[in-house]
Amino acid sequence: MSPYDRVCAACGGTVRRFARAGRTGRYKGFELPLPSSLELVECERCGERFVSRTDRGKIEEALAAEYRRHLRAKLEVALQKLDDAGFKLIDVERELGLSAGYLSKVRKRVEPSFQLVALLSLVADEPLRATAKLHGLRRA
Ligand SMILES: [Zn+2]
Repeated sequence: MSPYDRVCAACGGTVRRFARAGRTGRYKGFELPLPSSLELVECERCGERFVSRTDRGKIEEALAAEYRRHLRAKLEVALQKLDDAGFKLIDVERELGLSAGYLSKVRKRVEPSFQLVALLSLVADEPLRATAKLHGLRRA
């Protein structure tokens, strides 16, 4: 034990600041991995985490970045599936009632919303059925 270590009140193990792989955190309803390089104060034995305000900020920042990465990856998977099925971005935008160029903008600069990624993922799974359904919704 170093002079900065403490004894865990829950289990008697050693509480200290260290980095490790395998930690996760919740963000906007997602359970996401934390960077393995992030040092946090934790009990080595039982895993009880002691989070300071500073550490809370680092955790939130890391999870927000991971959330964006996750949504962008899912967005690309959906758009690739749609492209494979013959739907170009302009087709997808027209079918979903999005303005022309919107998806390119989201891809490059804007953080995609979960709602958009969810919709695109559902449409990408069965594009013909989904677009037929969308056409049906447009009929009076
Ligand atoms: Zn403990």
